[in-house]
Amino acid sequence: MSIKEIYQTMEYGPAPESNKESEDFLNSHKRKFNLFINGKWTKPASGDYFESISPSTTEKLALISNANEKDVDDAVKAAKKALKSWVEIGGHGRARYLYAIARQIQKHSRNFAVLESMDNGKPIRETRDIDIPLVARHFYHHAGWAQLMDTEMKEYKEIGVIGQIIPWNFPMLMLAWKIAPALAMGNTVVLKPAEFTSLTALLFADICKQIGLPDGVVNIVTGHGDTGATLVNHPDVAKIAFTGSTEVGKIIRRATAGTGKKISLELGGKSPFIVFEDADLDSVVEGIVDAIWFNQGQVCCAGSRLLVQESVAEKLYAKIRARMETLRVGKSLDKSIDIGAIVAPVQLRTIEDLVQKGKEEGNTCWQPSWNCPADGYFYPPTLFTDVSPSSVIAQEEIFGPVLVAMSFRSHGEAVKLANNTRYGLASSIWTENINLALDIAPQIKAGTVWINCSNVFDASSGFGGYRESGYGREGGKEGLYEYVKHRAESEFKNDAPKLKTHEPSSKKENKSLPSIDRTPKLYIGGKQARPDGGNSITIKDTYGNYISEVPKSSRKDIRNAVEAAHACTSWAGMTGHAKAQVLYYIAENLSVRADEFAARIVQMTNVSTADANKEVQTSIERIYTYAAWADKYDGLVHHTTQRNVTLAMPERVGVMGIVCPDESPLLGFISTVIPAIAMGNCVVVIPSESAPLSATDFYQILETSDVPAGCINIVTGNKDELTKEMAKHDDIDGLWYFGSAQGSKDVELLSAENLKRTWVNYGKYRNWYDRSQGEGTEFLRHATEIKNIWIPYGA
Ligand code: NDP
Repeated sequence: MSIKEIYQTMEYGPAPESNKESEDFLNSHKRKFNLFINGKWTKPASGDYFESISPSTTEKLALISNANEKDVDDAVKAAKKALKSWVEIGGHGRARYLYAIARQIQKHSRNFAVLESMDNGKPIRETRDIDIPLVARHFYHHAGWAQLMDTEMKEYKEIGVIGQIIPWNFPMLMLAWKIAPALAMGNTVVLKPAEFTSLTALLFADICKQIGLPDGVVNIVTGHGDTGATLVNHPDVAKIAFTGSTEVGKIIRRATAGTGKKISLELGGKSPFIVFEDADLDSVVEGIVDAIWFNQGQVCCAGSRLLVQESVAEKLYAKIRARMETLRVGKSLDKSIDIGAIVAPVQLRTIEDLVQKGKEEGNTCWQPSWNCPADGYFYPPTLFTDVSPSSVIAQEEIFGPVLVAMSFRSHGEAVKLANNTRYGLASSIWTENINLALDIAPQIKAGTVWINCSNVFDASSGFGGYRESGYGREGGKEGLYEYVKHRAESEFKNDAPKLKTHEPSSKKENKSLPSIDRTPKLYIGGKQARPDGGNSITIKDTYGNYISEVPKSSRKDIRNAVEAAHACTSWAGMTGHAKAQVLYYIAENLSVRADEFAARIVQMTNVSTADANKEVQTSIERIYTYAAWADKYDGLVHHTTQRNVTLAMPERVGVMGIVCPDESPLLGFISTVIPAIAMGNCVVVIPSESAPLSATDFYQILETSDVPAGCINIVTGNKDELTKEMAKHDDIDGLWYFGSAQGSKDVELLSAENLKRTWVNYGKYRNWYDRSQGEGTEFLRHATEIKNIWIPYGA
């Protein structure tokens, strides 16, 4: 284009970024990449390769290896072999390597940015200014955590070989989010990139070689979904870290159920972008550009649902349309484009189909007047207005540059609409009223809340979802826990503790015990209730002597209890101080009746009175522990790189199911129920199946201790049958299970449907008397989710 033409049209000219260095890299591998296993480029066992295409030019970039079972096995073996010396090199040694990786990425940042844009289709402006700087930042930040592990994470150790599976939308950034914390905490990794976008991971392998990273610490196996599945199922992989679709996340949850493999899942989203009437609408428009047109909207946390207060809706829609008209879609290496190409034809079709569906549903669709380039996989920015909250485009993740808008009138309605989704990854709130923003933020069920900003990330701030957006956090101290295990785990036993028991000497002695002729009931919604089925089960002592009957509950009783737990809204709203008061009161009332509770333990378990007294006293002490924590389990203010106060707030999980251990009937109940409620959860508890009477006696303590109705619900009966009902229940947000290996597997398998948080013991036994095993912040971590709230500042 001549200067004269430019003056006439005022059009942008092309501003292409050079791709010479990236071309040189591809050529250095003869455009045919092998697998990176044990520090060496290794031909795939199958001899099978597939093509990697540039989405904005449709040019063939390279051939990529398709790893099969043998390759995955070789990679896992290499990682396993490297593990011992990687741990032994210590935190400081690992920090040096991570620092070297960060430096090397910075030194080659333009090559990474260009290659990423070529491979993925995203604008070079984004890879250059956002993706790759964040990658380097992630390695620097985690070099720091490696250095600090010995002092700051003393109670934890590495997990082992980590299998990591990443998607195509932020290929290099997701690699960094996975590899940096894993290596920092002493693990070794096998990473599978997405088939559409493997190239920067392979360039990263070159970096690992250049800095002399020990062989086997990082292995890259490229391939299709079945390569990922092989990695998931490999018996020597101790943890799977996955980012991708909710559908595959659920497959992974089911595939790993009962194996003891830890998993973290970062899945889809349909994040609300909420605009209140006092917001600065011009800033909002730019926020929307960042929220939904960044990376072509192929962002798990894209602000894809615009919720706008009715009074300003039409005004805002007009401004958005005007801005959309000026957006530029084009080649990924053109420095002056706003929106690049969609990653592949299959994704383009998904977007087209969903937009068509949105039109058929009667929603109003608007697209700019200009056309996208004809060659390459492009899709124009798209706005739907007057969208019904129940329509498919308001519920399904489109993963493309499509914004769906709906309006609300009141603040309450905004919150309801925002939470009207099965996801819970992120949200964005726009208002000039900080009080309103901070009132709304905790009410949104999402792992990240951006106030007057959108899609900002930093290595020091944890990112991850609630509900079907998955679990686990990446980044910040909270993210480190995904790559460590508690040292006490090695103390857990395969067999139940052997107790010294004494057969009751006479029936007369039995009759003198208190409460023997009471009729234990269920405890639901603050009331004693009979079981729906009208059945009972017999409770005997360890010598087979009859003690009592307890209700045999059914699915209906579980459902009633869950409903009651949801209805108890007052508990979650109480301050930590107020909750602590109630917990101390419970301890006080238990102490008053200590002898009665000890006698009950003797009666059920035939232990000595001294042992029973010890169990009661330890239980009282444990309640004190969590009364102490109730107002001290604080969050953090993260030091992010932008001008933000980033609050990492622990929030309650919600309604939790708790399946107590059979042993230590009182202490096991207290040790699991009290930390959960201390964090504001309401619980449905299945007490010890063989010795439930400590729990059914306990509701009399609850009734006299100011515990609100529905906060603790106690349901007795067949433990594993009732557990399955809880695992399947869609309105239970978290489930802890202390029982058999099979029961643990059932919990993990059946909870996949709504991706509830689970914590199970895989049939192992804790010593509940040992404070390092039976109490502590690990329980509180499992009872909470971390929400990061980003509040920018600066005049
Ligand atoms: P997937 O979840 O299928 O892919 C993510 C990663 O998992 C890829 O590396 C993929 O390999 C691998 N994978 C696929 N199947 C399995 C399996 N059974 N076991 C283990 N690993 C597996 O996402 P897609 O790339 O197919 O995208 C589909 C949809 O998912 C998108 O339209 C979008 O809605 C959503 N998505 C969400 C993302 C997020 O960050 N939340 C990211 C990407 C997609 P391969 O690439 O070879 O298929």
